[in-house]
Amino acid sequence: MSNNSKSSKKFTRLENILIIGNGGRENSLAWAIQKNKLVKKVYLIPGNGGSERINKCERIKVDINNKNEFLEKLNFLKIDLVVIGPEIHLADGLADFLREKNFKVFGPGKDGARLEYSKSWAKEFMQDAKIPTANFWKVNSLEEAKKVIYSSSISLVVKADGLASGKGVFIPDSKDECYGAAESILNGKFGNSGNVVVLEERIQGPEVSVFALCDGKKYILLPSAQDHKRLNEKDKGPNTGGMGAYSPAPLLTEDYLIRITKEIIAPTINELNKKNIDYKGVIYFGLMITESGPKVIEYNCRFGDPECQTIMPLMDQDFVFLLEKCSMGNLTGNEKIDTSDLVSGCVIATSQGYPHEYKTGYTIKIGNVDSNNFQIFDSGTSLNKNGELLTDGGRVLSIVCQDKNFDMVFDKAYKNLKEINFDGIYYRNDIGHQVRRKFSKEN
Ligand code: AMP
Repeated sequence: MSNNSKSSKKFTRLENILIIGNGGRENSLAWAIQKNKLVKKVYLIPGNGGSERINKCERIKVDINNKNEFLEKLNFLKIDLVVIGPEIHLADGLADFLREKNFKVFGPGKDGARLEYSKSWAKEFMQDAKIPTANFWKVNSLEEAKKVIYSSSISLVVKADGLASGKGVFIPDSKDECYGAAESILNGKFGNSGNVVVLEERIQGPEVSVFALCDGKKYILLPSAQDHKRLNEKDKGPNTGGMGAYSPAPLLTEDYLIRITKEIIAPTINELNKKNIDYKGVIYFGLMITESGPKVIEYNCRFGDPECQTIMPLMDQDFVFLLEKCSMGNLTGNEKIDTSDLVSGCVIATSQGYPHEYKTGYTIKIGNVDSNNFQIFDSGTSLNKNGELLTDGGRVLSIVCQDKNFDMVFDKAYKNLKEINFDGIYYRNDIGHQVRRKFSKEN
């Protein structure tokens, strides 16, 4: 990291960090944060079965909806910085609440989280700022949806307006299928999240994710990433929360990054300022590189999962300073992140049946795995009374490796995966196919 961050005198106490959330994302954040010598303890609420394998980490049992109990606990633990992982808490205004109580918080308030929890609002936001994105129609009723769908000459994508745990996007093959998707959303498939439907022009091109750490005015970019959303190899099958990822994405050349910064990232920050939104957290830009240039597919108001697990091992021990600077509004915008010369990849091991129904409670056996430039971040696990690690989610483990190139990264990931087992374990063998020589020869 640059001298700027090292020489800054503005850091306050950073002994006790709290991370809210229970997935692989939060465990990887904890792992990156604990590297800093100033950090004595990283607490996770609620964390999962793998959290306490991470140095300095402790899980805390407290109901965050019971605000008095929650605050009492934070004061008792002398929390210096709160990092909020999941979008639902940001959309609920948890960051606003904690800031009002004078905690330093990494994560936007409810106003900024709207970039994610209302797709129609985000589309209008982009329209206001002239940010390139697919054309769209916002509809409130089936009648309106019908009119748009059957009169449109282009293919459409159907999206529930609100949060839907990554399941609210449909890519239909026909107008009738498109109408069916709009109907199911408007009829309550996602509850209030589907009171409004966004119909979007279907665009084409490879996808890439860019992350900006933002302090309200200034921002810095983390390494880019590409994830694999589909369940099966060759990017087929249903959409999932993410089956794997790699970083940085070679697709995003320096020139492209300059263009994306100018056309998308800077205008987003300017528009937030124009709208008086003091955004202190990460903005995830889900981009599609189309023939006519990069376009925004979606914003998220938090780190992506599994992109976060993939990127965190590329951060040095000063990462926590960046989060703190964002929370305090004192980024210089010139901080450079030392990502060493390694690249990183992640493969997700899931329960059989995911993303549909699956069973949990199977014992996880981890054999002889690497210790260097290799991490296992638990995504959905728990511990039983005897301290045995059990499956406890659809996505169970994030297997993450770093090496000099992606062939080496994924060879290592898959070699280690042979040492990991639980009943019904499933993972894709072609994660990173775009950047692995084995697959480029096949294509
Ligand atoms: P989202 O949850 O908005 O990221 O959408 C999930 C996935 O749907 C994206 O990663 C894209 O692959 C696809 N998608 C979303 N919007 C569009 C669009 N306008 N055109 C084509 N594909 C899209």
